[in-house]
Amino acid sequence: MITLVTDEVLLAVQTVGICRTNVLLWKGRAMGSLQARTPDHIPGHECSACVAKLGPEVTCLRVGDRVAVEPGIACWKCSVCKTGRYNLCDNFRALSFTPGVEGTMQRYLVHPAELCHKLPEHVTYDDGAMVEPVAEALHTCLRAGITVESEVLILGADPVGLSSLLVAKAMCARHVCIADHNEERLAMAKVLGADYTVLVYRSDASVAAKQITETMACMPDITIESSASEAAIQIAMIVTKAGGVVMMHMLSKENTKLPLAQAALREIDVKGAFLYPGDRFPLALSMVSSGAIDFKQIITHRFPLDKAQEAFEVAGARKGGLVKVVIDCGTEPRRP
Ligand SMILES: [Zn+2]
Ligand SMILES: [Zn+2]
Repeated sequence: MITLVTDEVLLAVQTVGICRTNVLLWKGRAMGSLQARTPDHIPGHECSACVAKLGPEVTCLRVGDRVAVEPGIACWKCSVCKTGRYNLCDNFRALSFTPGVEGTMQRYLVHPAELCHKLPEHVTYDDGAMVEPVAEALHTCLRAGITVESEVLILGADPVGLSSLLVAKAMCARHVCIADHNEERLAMAKVLGADYTVLVYRSDASVAAKQITETMACMPDITIESSASEAAIQIAMIVTKAGGVVMMHMLSKENTKLPLAQAALREIDVKGAFLYPGDRFPLALSMVSSGAIDFKQIITHRFPLDKAQEAFEVAGARKGGLVKVVIDCGTEPRRP
C-alpha cells in the first residue's frame, strides 16, 4: 500500500520513450557529470501516465486524468528557482538523470502533482510521452535564439536532432540543414521537413564543414550539436558563421578537445542546454496539442515493459530504420 504525502500523486505509467541519454548511460558511458548506472537502475524520463491515486492536498488533478510527466524536481525556493530556471537549482533532481533517482520505466510512479500536465482529450499517450523531448528541443532552440532569419544547422539526425529540427521548423527558421553519417536517418529528416541534408563521413572536420556550407550555400548562424561526438563539436566550431551560436544539446564526455581560438577570433557563442526551465514543458505541450509539432511520427519501434532489455538492445544498435523506441508500461489495453 503506497502512502502519498500532501502534493503527490500515484501514476499508472503508460508510454515511456527511450532517450539517447538512457541508452548511453545503459551502455556504461559517462556524459559530463552523469555517470553510468548500476544494473538495478530504472531508466526513463519521457513519460505519459494516468492518475491512479491522489495525495491528501491535491486539487489540480482527478483520478483517471491522463497526463504528461515533467521529470525535473527542484527546491522551488532558491534564487535560480525564483527566476524560473529550476533546472539549474543546486537541489535539482531529474527522474533517471540524477544518480539515485529512479526513472519512469515502471508500472507505477509517485510524482508531484504540479509536474503532471493534463493531456487534452485528443492528445494520445504517445504524444504525451513525446512532450518531454519536445520541451528539451524547445529550450535548445530558444537558447540558440532562432528567428525567421536563422540559417540553422543540426549535427546528428537521431531523435534528439530530429526534435530540434521539428521545433526549429515550427519556429519558422529560414532554412534547417541536418547532417549525419546515416542515410536512413537523413531520409527521415527530409520527411520531417529538413530543407537540406548532408551525408558526412567521419573525416576531417574541415572537409565536413565544406560539404555543409556548399549544400547550405552559406555558413549557418546557429549550429545545434546533437550527436555528443567530439568530431561533431569540432565541425560546429568551424562551420558556424562569425558572430553565431554553437548550441550543445547533447552531453558529451567531461573534457572535449575544441578549436576554441575559433570562438575567440570569430566571436562564436558556445551555449549549453540541460533539460529546461519551468515554462518550457507547458509550451511544448501546447505545441504538441495544437499539431505544430508531431513528434510521435518518428516512433518506429514499440515494446512491452517486460521486453525492456530487448528494447534497449535494439535502441542501442540503431539499425534497420530505427528512429524512436517506446516502451508500453500500461497494463490495460488502450489507444496509443
Ligand atoms: Zn531525453
Ligand atoms: Zn532551487
